[in-house]
Amino acid sequence: MTEQRQQGFDTLQIHGGAEPDPATGARQTPIYQTTSYVFRDADHAARLFGLEEVGYIYSRLTNPTVNALQGRMAALEGGAGAVCCSSGHAAQILALFPLMQPGCNIVASTRLYGGTVTQFSQSLKRFGWSATFVDTDDLGAVEAAIDENTRAIFCESIANPGGYITDLDAMARIADKAGLPLIVDNTTATPYLCRPIEHGATLVVHSMTKYLTGNGTVTGGCVVDSGKFDWTASDKFPSLSQPEPAYHGLTFAEAFGPLGFTFHSIAVGLRDLGMTLNPQAAHYTLLGIETLSLRMDKHCANALRVAEWLEKHPAVERVSYAGLPSSPYAERMARICPRGASSIFTFALKGGYDACVRFVDSLELFSHVANLGDTRSLVIHSASTTHRQLTEAQQKAAGADPNVVRLSIGIEDADDLIADLDQALAAAG
Ligand SMILES: *Cc1c(COP(=O)(O)O)cnc(C)c1O
Repeated sequence: MTEQRQQGFDTLQIHGGAEPDPATGARQTPIYQTTSYVFRDADHAARLFGLEEVGYIYSRLTNPTVNALQGRMAALEGGAGAVCCSSGHAAQILALFPLMQPGCNIVASTRLYGGTVTQFSQSLKRFGWSATFVDTDDLGAVEAAIDENTRAIFCESIANPGGYITDLDAMARIADKAGLPLIVDNTTATPYLCRPIEHGATLVVHSMTKYLTGNGTVTGGCVVDSGKFDWTASDKFPSLSQPEPAYHGLTFAEAFGPLGFTFHSIAVGLRDLGMTLNPQAAHYTLLGIETLSLRMDKHCANALRVAEWLEKHPAVERVSYAGLPSSPYAERMARICPRGASSIFTFALKGGYDACVRFVDSLELFSHVANLGDTRSLVIHSASTTHRQLTEAQQKAAGADPNVVRLSIGIEDADDLIADLDQALAAAG
């Protein structure tokens, strides 16, 4: 037998999880537009429902197109298994669901996507869960925030809106010492730029809506499990380490080993929460991922050129991009995402709020939208849109000061992007 070679990223982004279709030989992964699957006989059906045999029952749980995407995501992140779901926000709930009970909390970074801050600070409470937000550059504060009811530490690798890289190795050391899983949102970096599991992450969550699909067509999410966390080492995770009453007393960590979390997320999480990814969306995301590395290289190169140009512009107060040599996070970038700092970043205009509004309205090639990670370049002025409901102090804490604009640099010609920014900065005065 020949030894299994570890394939490279560019190979896995095309072949990971996707064998030729066993029924027809179709080379591209077909869209299995079906809700259900015929059982061979009553015994087969009973074995599937008892999880004694793995197979397809109903598309709320599993679907072959979605399954191919799950295999690809696990391969790209270097995980044991993955579960896809309907959005990045769904992925965050799906990741927490097996870990939490009423009264439990998570320790979360203050530097998170705005929607995640709202989900964690407001909606988690409805489940009896809570989040304690800490500055992840203050390692003492992270440790101090952990108590006996903490069940996870949550951060982003490259934080949205950008310019900040979390020291994942330091977070993993703290999580290990406390016997807790580290959950990393890797949306902005993608597995091409950063592989959180190699830095000690237990779970990696994604909004596939962004760079993974890459062209603004799909809302989707994913949870990848490293398969390395011992859920039975303490009594903190009974859904995984104890007989699960929601699954006729099955003990997931025992029955499925490194796939315990993944099986629980499908058999209990998707079954009862229902935040399923549809096969059409999975197909678009599979197509997008085929060119992920090519796009990310271009996104990063364009973002660096634009950031360097903006940094020298007289109307610009500062540029917060981790890829700039002037960034305070240059050392972390070399260690955590050496191939590039992705293409989302912010910059501040000397002219304040009014200049920002005029600037955004004057752009022609950039689209003013509430999305990011698209092949098209995008812009948003957070203070007048996504962060409009916050006080000025809250806007500042979130990195959305009134004079800050967020860019998501696409893969167009950098010269055309710079020309558009140049005319809009002139118009902003
Ligand atoms: C967009 C985003 C999310 C939420 O994802 P949806 O697919 O919009 O639900 C979560 N985290 C980060 C970093 C994001 O950029």
